[in-house]
Amino acid sequence: MRVTWNVDGGAWHLTFRLDPEDGITGLCSDGQPLKLATNSCRVELPRALPDVHPDLPALAAWTVVAPWTRRRIVFDRPISAQLAAAFAEGWGVEAGPVGSPARSGSRLAISYSGGADSAAVAAMLPDAPFVHFQRVSHPRVPNRWTHYRSDVLAALAAETGRELTVVRSDLEFTLAEPRPGYPEHHAVAAGALLLADELDLGGLAFGYELGSRWLGGDRYLLRYTPDNPMWAPHGAWGRAFAAAGLHIVLPVGGVSEAVTMRLALGSELRDQVRWCLRGVNGACGSCGKCLYKELIQAAVERRPLRTAITADRPVARKWQQPPPYGGQEMIEYGCARVPGVEDTVFGAAAGFLKATEASTAWLDRCYPPAIEEIPEPWRKQVRDFVDAEVGFMSDDEARNVETWGTA
Ligand SMILES: [Zn+2]
Repeated sequence: MRVTWNVDGGAWHLTFRLDPEDGITGLCSDGQPLKLATNSCRVELPRALPDVHPDLPALAAWTVVAPWTRRRIVFDRPISAQLAAAFAEGWGVEAGPVGSPARSGSRLAISYSGGADSAAVAAMLPDAPFVHFQRVSHPRVPNRWTHYRSDVLAALAAETGRELTVVRSDLEFTLAEPRPGYPEHHAVAAGALLLADELDLGGLAFGYELGSRWLGGDRYLLRYTPDNPMWAPHGAWGRAFAAAGLHIVLPVGGVSEAVTMRLALGSELRDQVRWCLRGVNGACGSCGKCLYKELIQAAVERRPLRTAITADRPVARKWQQPPPYGGQEMIEYGCARVPGVEDTVFGAAAGFLKATEASTAWLDRCYPPAIEEIPEPWRKQVRDFVDAEVGFMSDDEARNVETWGTA
């Protein structure tokens, strides 16, 4: 793989060329097969930058091209030996040329999506600036996803009043199948990486919560994942970001989506929280994401489910089948708490799972190892917040995390 950045003011244009051993179908770090659509994309920053450390555009490019790279990658500027070592150890990929000193920075920014999880991170870190990724169309790939209202989410991020940089990019259209999206989950950080020197960033906080970090996330069902390749500090991506002087920080990595929902709805950003990508004047109420989040919100607010979605609708079909489910811990949590759940689209799932408030109480507290893996400069602030607002799991409760999928 050979990658080249051409910079024109604030617009960074990436082109890449595959080597003979590379393939147009590759694997995302979470195991999903991905088919390449095109070999160019751009990242638009709101302003031109002075000199940028070469590790930053190199790692930004890697978040796009990693799935399709087999053995080596050649960048257009020399990277640090530390970053090259991270490519070798994490992926078995030979990266170069090498010849820059290591980079470092000091501030923490938030990769802010506008959903409940990142709003909870924002509540924990009230002084951290936001970097928001906004999808825009690609000049050479048709956009069949015009119902995806990234402009609405960017406008809501601006309404928060927080220090904000919106990064516009078409990099999701490098992916032909299964559909446009981040080639690697970390591509959402491409703009934050390019901006890291200007903002003096030493860390980037993401809204990945307990399920994504420790319970296997969406695509891995029911699996305790201490060595999660995407989000563990000692995983391939954690080490690559650290080598570039931008540590991955997961302030809500130890708490469930019930806790992030409660924190988000109790925060001053409540009116700007939006997890649905489709609605304009509010969430659409009819997509699968809306249905899943409604179950969690109803559980947190201790009220009946409010939805017009019926069991025969495609987005509700999986809840009529037996488990396992993606995000099953939250389905258990919701089914145990929503009044009258047996008469809703989750009634069948509730019958299969037989969860109770007692069996899901651990999901109201924080898994302590998640705090220990937050880099030292930001650990105390997160720990103090969690101690005051959430509380920690007992050893018995923590065992629910560590036996997830085997108990
Ligand atoms: Zn929706």
